[in-house]
Amino acid sequence: MARIVVLGAALGGLQTALLLAADGHQVTVLERDPDPAPPDPEEAWSRWQRPGIPQLRLTHLPLASWLQLSEAQLPSLVERMTAAGAVRMNVLAPEPGMRGGLLPADVRFDTLAARRCLLEHVATRAAEAAGVRIERGVVCRGLRAGSDDGPRAKGRVPHVTGVETGTGPLAADLVVDCTGRRSPLPAWLRDIGVPGPVEEAGRRGFTYYCRYFRSADGALPASTFPLIAEHGSLGLLRIPADHGTYSLGLISRSHDHELRRLLRHEGAWCAAVRLFPGADAWLDGRPLTDGVQIMAGLTDRKRTLYDDEHPRVTGVVAVGDAWALTVPTIGRGLAMSMRHSLMLRDVLRRTGTADRVELVTAFGRATRDGLGGVYRRSTSYTRHRLAEMDAHAAGRRYRHPDWDRARALALLTQREPDALRAERAAAHLLPGAAAELSAPALVEAVDGLMPELERRMPPGPTRAHLLEAAAAG
Ligand SMILES: Cc1cc2nc3c(=O)[nH]c(=O)nc-3n(C[C@H](O)[C@H](O)[C@H](O)COP(=O)(O)OP(=O)(O)OC[C@H]3O[C@@H](n4cnc5c(N)ncnc54)[C@H](O)[C@@H]3O)c2cc1C
Repeated sequence: MARIVVLGAALGGLQTALLLAADGHQVTVLERDPDPAPPDPEEAWSRWQRPGIPQLRLTHLPLASWLQLSEAQLPSLVERMTAAGAVRMNVLAPEPGMRGGLLPADVRFDTLAARRCLLEHVATRAAEAAGVRIERGVVCRGLRAGSDDGPRAKGRVPHVTGVETGTGPLAADLVVDCTGRRSPLPAWLRDIGVPGPVEEAGRRGFTYYCRYFRSADGALPASTFPLIAEHGSLGLLRIPADHGTYSLGLISRSHDHELRRLLRHEGAWCAAVRLFPGADAWLDGRPLTDGVQIMAGLTDRKRTLYDDEHPRVTGVVAVGDAWALTVPTIGRGLAMSMRHSLMLRDVLRRTGTADRVELVTAFGRATRDGLGGVYRRSTSYTRHRLAEMDAHAAGRRYRHPDWDRARALALLTQREPDALRAERAAAHLLPGAAAELSAPALVEAVDGLMPELERRMPPGPTRAHLLEAAAAG
């Protein structure tokens, strides 16, 4: 069994550590934030200092596929989360198109609703209980490297033999980078002579403006509207969480300076939320956050460290956000990261760490085949949605055949439960979704809506109305 160093003790690093420790590997997790987990999740919300996870107190909901994988592979983690107050909820239930009630098979659309702090707190406790060593306040500063002429590598491929930390070196058979969206891996690689990974990144992204609330009686407001609603240059997330809490998050383009100037003020933020039909009642809760929590520059970014034949480096892999970021609006980060951790566990089961080249190339192939398409579809969403927001700000309707089809499907989901099931199955990365989406009856129904799309699209507020309402708020 291998000595494995995991960098980063947030959900991605912790679930990777749990999976690898369960296979008998000797796992050490290094975490730069020194603050240990407080005694209970509520204190985690009020006082856990985790600057390394800037999105900790922003809107989060794992996809249904995250729950499916977690229940199958780390059932005790899910049990602990539920015992701590995470709420099992079905993502179809609040959708306006969900007529006729849920079917028994719709359990596949269940997920766990909770503040990210609670998920983080429970995962930390679970890893500690499983005997994973977590060293807090230890910053990884770089990689230690030897070199290796792997059997299929061209030339000399640097081999990572451990990490340099603020408290000294640490040897490892494998280093797993789970340092998330701000992973310094490209700089660490350059320092040991490895040309930077091939990186693709969106030039533009989104900004989140979030607030958390707690309802007075612990129950969520009766008024339901979709978990995500998109109108022109603004989107709204309405995400239930644990212990009667929930969050509302407005989403704009990062470079939308007019909205940015307005939405950081609570009055303008509330006025913008009220523009979404049904959202009013959700503003009655007691605010749990000071002011509006803002995070900008949310875009897609992917790094490739290896291809089939020529790894750039061995002994190190990047998992979860450290490998690929997707925009949070579609909520894929935790599900992708869980899939990626499982891929690493399974590749390690097959290859071990002795054949260094085989390990990284097999993991590279599994990543490309298992998650490459998910990443591509996320970038397509980002591109079209930003173009739609641009068009709205310019007073136009955005038209593109692919986006029109997506909008036609969205319209259909409002009256056809099976269309809703197919669309949500794809959004939640559930098995079989591609077949459901390409079912002839569904394709025909979407085609039938295309000519009427312009007329049927809900009008929503104009840009001028939006700016006016927010400015008056
Ligand atoms: C605003 C926002 C909303 C989101 N909403 C959703 C959602 O609804 N659903 C969803 O599934 N996903 C969502 N995501 C994505 C999700 O937050 C990420 O996918 C997830 O945090 C990735 O987890 P991670 O453990 O890989 O990295 P992170 O959570 O980024 O954690 C990285 C860890 O590494 C540590 N670290 C960093 N550098 C070092 C170092 N040098 N040495 C040691 N430790 C280090 C950090 O302190 C931190 O603990 C959202 C993201 C954002 C930004």
